[in-house]
Amino acid sequence: MSGVLTHPEYDDHELVAFHRDPGSGLRAVVAVHSTVLGRGLGGCRVHPYASEADAITDVLRLSRGMTYKAALAGLQQGGGKAVVIADPRLDKTPAMMRAMGRLVQTLGGRYVIAEDSGTDEADMREVAHETAFIGGGAAPINPDDPGDRDTSAATALGVYFGIQAAVRFRLGREDLRGLRVSIQGVGKVGQVLAQHLHDAGARLFVCDAYAPAVDACVQRFGATPVDARELIGLDVDVFSPCALGAVFDDDSVPRLRAPIVAGAANNQLAEPRHGGMLMDRGVLYAPDYAINAGGIINLYYEGPTRRWADVEAHLQRIGRTLDTIFMRARDEVRPTHEIADRMAETVFRKQP
Ligand code: NAD
Repeated sequence: MSGVLTHPEYDDHELVAFHRDPGSGLRAVVAVHSTVLGRGLGGCRVHPYASEADAITDVLRLSRGMTYKAALAGLQQGGGKAVVIADPRLDKTPAMMRAMGRLVQTLGGRYVIAEDSGTDEADMREVAHETAFIGGGAAPINPDDPGDRDTSAATALGVYFGIQAAVRFRLGREDLRGLRVSIQGVGKVGQVLAQHLHDAGARLFVCDAYAPAVDACVQRFGATPVDARELIGLDVDVFSPCALGAVFDDDSVPRLRAPIVAGAANNQLAEPRHGGMLMDRGVLYAPDYAINAGGIINLYYEGPTRRWADVEAHLQRIGRTLDTIFMRARDEVRPTHEIADRMAETVFRKQP
């Protein structure tokens, strides 16, 4: 592998910190891509990476992505990320998370840690013993606030507003009644999204690797279960990927029949060129990090003065941002994900 400074994903990161704590066994990398707009917020992922090189590639890519996501969402916040090389089920310990907290503290607020895959609320409580630079997990619970402690409700509502914007733009329709929507992955985000779509009168087609999640949608929303092999080729109005990344590749794009793709999953394009392939097929693609920004928006408002109404108002801006992306993409005949990148760069590179 080439060095970190010449890594293809390096992209002039402000800071990359490597740390090993012999006492707890922590092996971590923290990457801060940009603090131009504010502190570099990003989740801490615990994953048994096959190599340090894989961990570095992941943390650089994810940290950069956070800068773009925050900038496009209109947040005064930068982008960062942390990875811990460990199996979250076998290796992770409270002592390891405390050591992670101490590492975060030494960075003096340039990086703000949050939950991610492989970390949970209990981990953040350990981290909170060592640092105050923490987003989410440590705030008091407010039962009247749907986004408190769980960003998936906000993410789902943001995706719902995004679907409304895409339907308006591509199909010229203001309401979702009778619209056919397929959802890949009805987990935390997908279930709440299904609820919003059902309430709006949409017909749902759902697929999940976990059968009880599908059953819940059948019972609660009268959804139609769909086999994983048939999902992409289903004749629907909207396909909403809410499970995994790299959904669109050379194999899946030609089989896609939905004219709209709008879902929560991160990194939906296997490679950037697949965004161009979607455009060439006449598919309107809501760029993943633009439509799924609800989670980071939710975290942004955390604190004693938080009001869900403020979060919801900000989530509605996701729809307006997508309106702009869609219009510019049409006018400039360019893929929507490229337009989103340029819009984000304008925001975080323009600052003094
Ligand atoms: P989750 O783990 O609760 O749900 C994912 C669901 O997808 C699970 O039910 C799982 O069984 C299912 N699944 C996995 N592989 C599948 C496959 N091959 N086919 C069909 N279903 C499959 O996760 P979540 O929090 O709902 O997040 C969903 C997606 O949205 C993820 O890609 C996540 O990175 C992204 N996202 C989530 C948030 C958030 O706030 N939770 C924010 C931004 C982005």
